[in-house]
Amino acid sequence: MENISKPAVSPNPMILKSEGLLKYILETSVYPREAEILKELRNATTNHPLGFMGTSPDVGQLMALLLKLLNAKKTIEVGVFTGYSLLLTALNTPHDGKIIALDPDRKAYEIGLPFIKKASVLHKIDYIESPALPVLDKLLQDPANEGTFDFAFVDADKNNYWNYHERLIKLIKIGGIVAYDNTLWGGTVALPEMEVSEPKREWRRFTLAFNEAISKDSRLELAFVSIGDGLTICRRIR
Ligand code: SAH
Ligand code: CA
Repeated sequence: MENISKPAVSPNPMILKSEGLLKYILETSVYPREAEILKELRNATTNHPLGFMGTSPDVGQLMALLLKLLNAKKTIEVGVFTGYSLLLTALNTPHDGKIIALDPDRKAYEIGLPFIKKASVLHKIDYIESPALPVLDKLLQDPANEGTFDFAFVDADKNNYWNYHERLIKLIKIGGIVAYDNTLWGGTVALPEMEVSEPKREWRRFTLAFNEAISKDSRLELAFVSIGDGLTICRRIR
């Protein structure tokens, strides 16, 4: 008989994600340390009909740590919305940091813009009102851009995640990080399709395919983290 040792019992992710625990985490160590200007931007987003799309502050806290660990200076943001993760990135990069921020919806960005200005970090941001893919392709047309970015955060249309990945893995330097958000897609990845509401099914399928493909990608190391709606953190190694 094969001698396969049982994995250590790890905490049930559903329990980890229970509202009580999330509340505990947020109240104990996220909200008390969240920059006031990020709180202001977050509050200004609450009334937006799609306000739920804003990056949750616990995810933001992890991103901030990654940015600091990398000493990230050049970053790419795919999916800005009102700018929570963008402002967070700007606050956690040096004064001469540069962020290329891509989103076709400038109206949402304008909600966050006053807070970005108030934080005196607008000079770091190159906002391009456009779907991300053509801009990433354009960046790659100049070989000088390859392997020059420290960090990228992808938080946009799930059907394009693998397309973004194929481009970002070239733009990011070896040792740099690309983080993909919403890789648990509301928990639907662990449900049979029948139990998933119709509007969520298509992106669920894209997310499943992406999660499988990325886990096989030998160009990177990764951690699939059950935080927020799932964050897949990839470090380019070749
Ligand atoms: N990171 C943001 C949340 C992003 S929500 C925050 O912290 O608040 C998803 C965003 O992706 C939306 O603003 C949407 O306009 C944008 N989006 C949709 N399709 C896109 C595309 N093809 N390229 C770039 N952004 C896109
Ligand atoms: Ca998200």
